[in-house]
Amino acid sequence: MSDLASLFRETFGADRLRRNVPLAPMTTFRVGGAAEWLVETRSSGEIVAALGLATRAGAPVTILGGGSNVLVADSGVRGLVIRPRGGEIAQVDAEHVRADAAVTINGLVRWTINHGCAGLEAWAGTPGTVGGGIFGNAHFGGRVIGDLVTEVRLVSRGGEVRDVPRDEMAFGYDRSRLQDTGEVLLSAVFAVSRGEPAALRLTARASLAFRKQTQPLESPSAGCIFQNPDRSRGDAVPAGIPWSAGALVDRAGLKGTAIGGARVSPAHGNFIVNDGTATAADIRRLIARCRDEVRRQFGVELREEIVYLGDVAD
Ligand SMILES: Cc1cc2nc3c(=O)[nH]c(=O)nc-3n(C[C@H](O)[C@H](O)[C@H](O)COP(=O)(O)OP(=O)(O)OC[C@H]3O[C@@H](n4cnc5c(N)ncnc54)[C@H](O)[C@@H]3O)c2cc1C
Repeated sequence: MSDLASLFRETFGADRLRRNVPLAPMTTFRVGGAAEWLVETRSSGEIVAALGLATRAGAPVTILGGGSNVLVADSGVRGLVIRPRGGEIAQVDAEHVRADAAVTINGLVRWTINHGCAGLEAWAGTPGTVGGGIFGNAHFGGRVIGDLVTEVRLVSRGGEVRDVPRDEMAFGYDRSRLQDTGEVLLSAVFAVSRGEPAALRLTARASLAFRKQTQPLESPSAGCIFQNPDRSRGDAVPAGIPWSAGALVDRAGLKGTAIGGARVSPAHGNFIVNDGTATAADIRRLIARCRDEVRRQFGVELREEIVYLGDVAD
């Protein structure tokens, strides 16, 4: 096993690989420990190179996008955290736009609106990056982002780069093949059509207003904690209760419940908010309380939408 630091020095130059970097400020939950090693890559080529060096050094790799759907363990993340940054957006042809993994969804929305490309405007206000959005097939207003994707460029953990069409991505509710294969998204191509920027801007503003009305955006959170129940996975919700994780948490009387600095948002039953003092352990315990209570009262097994990074045992 080679030394990760010297491998990075040779390929990336001095100072690009950092040790013991606090991850909390890189997440919207604002909790969790440090990355043992962190590199902020500036291009797809650097992501591929970083993966290769980690493999040579025998270091486990974790990808961090916008940090808006993760809970980082208090003890941090061992090995190498790759945090793609920057990235480019380019018009492929009249009907397609390519965006790198690190591009934010909001940046992509702005770009497409300004270039008169319709299709992504309703996603305004979705935190995170193209990479994280495709990993979890982000959803909004009954739509999933995978529906807009025509092709993605992936790199396997072994370093093989491939272009993969949408129908091989195994997109489902909160699902993509990346969750099974560990492949890393480098870029994605989105289908667009011609649109009038002024009209697209109105749709974007309506999405932002809806979020402001329904989500507790003033406190740190990771968005929805749980996936909604799903008939296709055998879930059954008692009559009279909406098929929504937030409604189940609410009906179980859990809104406002707090453990340490973590609280189930009084405004939205599927959000846990951090009052600024929460630890990952507080949040994890509160998640367990919600799951237990919803199971006991309604017989429904809630599954997390958020992703745990680092050692889940702390
Ligand atoms: C206030 C708020 C509102 C939200 N509203 C919504 C919403 O309406 N709809 C919705 O679906 N989600 C919502 N979310 C959750 C979050 O915005 C999305 O899940 C988002 O797509 C996560 O992207 P990210 O870049 O932040 O991913 P991260 O949180 O950084 O990572 C999530 C997962 O993706 C993986 N990942 C990241 N980049 C890559 C890559 N390039 N290749 C492979 N894997 C990668 C990570 O390893 C991790 O497992 C909300 C969150 C917040 C805080």
